[in-house]
Amino acid sequence: MLSRIAGFSAAWLLAAVAVQGWGAQAPFAVDEVAPGVFVHQGRIADLAEENGGDIANIGFVVGERCVAVIDTGSTRRIGEALLAALRARTELPVCYVINTHMHLDHVFGNAAFEGEAGVAFVAAARMPASLSARAEGYLRTLDHEVGEAAEGTRAVYPTMLVEAEASLDLGGRTLTLRAWPTAHTDNDLTVFDERTRTLWTGDLLFERFVPIVDGSIRGWLDVIERLAKLPAARMVPGHGAIHLPGGAALAAERGYLAGVANTVRKAIGRGDSLRQVLDAEEGSAPAEWALAERFHARNLSAAYTELEWED
Ligand SMILES: [Zn+2]
Repeated sequence: MLSRIAGFSAAWLLAAVAVQGWGAQAPFAVDEVAPGVFVHQGRIADLAEENGGDIANIGFVVGERCVAVIDTGSTRRIGEALLAALRARTELPVCYVINTHMHLDHVFGNAAFEGEAGVAFVAAARMPASLSARAEGYLRTLDHEVGEAAEGTRAVYPTMLVEAEASLDLGGRTLTLRAWPTAHTDNDLTVFDERTRTLWTGDLLFERFVPIVDGSIRGWLDVIERLAKLPAARMVPGHGAIHLPGGAALAAERGYLAGVANTVRKAIGRGDSLRQVLDAEEGSAPAEWALAERFHARNLSAAYTELEWED
């Protein structure tokens, strides 16, 4: 009888978590993409109540002494789910929580890790200013788009900044962090696990999910060339497939961004206004990219604003 009661309450608890969590979602899945490298794949979707904001790829790398978390999701609740998945695999302390850039879907689970003794929050040097300029708006967006599942979410800022490059020692395992010139945003940071040659690109690489320009399209195209030369055996993009050799996905991204830049440069050359560009490109969002109907026009606008003044 006791065990039946226990079984009943466990089932009830699971149901309650599913209802309070983000819809009818499977448990928080984490894949070991390389030895000691664990990734949770976010949905290929925009923020919504039904996905609870679970839209970015996030995860962790386990060393012999401690663990580094790389991005924490859109909400405190996602951060807590990531921490629970981590604790199911290792007892080692979390020594670093690294944010690849300031976008809300990568940083707002940080609060779940504040209780880890000795943890440092790590980001590119320009990240705190960029996050603080957006944080209030981001929290309003979360409240509006995600609702209850975003409750308790707040910004937690980095305590360790990377100007150009840094090495983090996890015990027998080194992560090399690199801050890049303005590309996807003005504070992109990559994480390279030397042991497995896994490159966490943050949103410098989008797979299937249309790339979103929030920094510089020219800068991003330059950075893609440099990423392609790194000795990575695999890449973990900010959005999209998590088992990726990297090369083909980078080439597809380069193709998309170069296409946007090319369209906009030609229009500027003809003397077209931004309005004319958007009207001419209406309905031309490339079908091979998810969410292009939502973000393609925005990318054209961002590119126009940037390229209007180029020599
Ligand atoms: Zn982003």
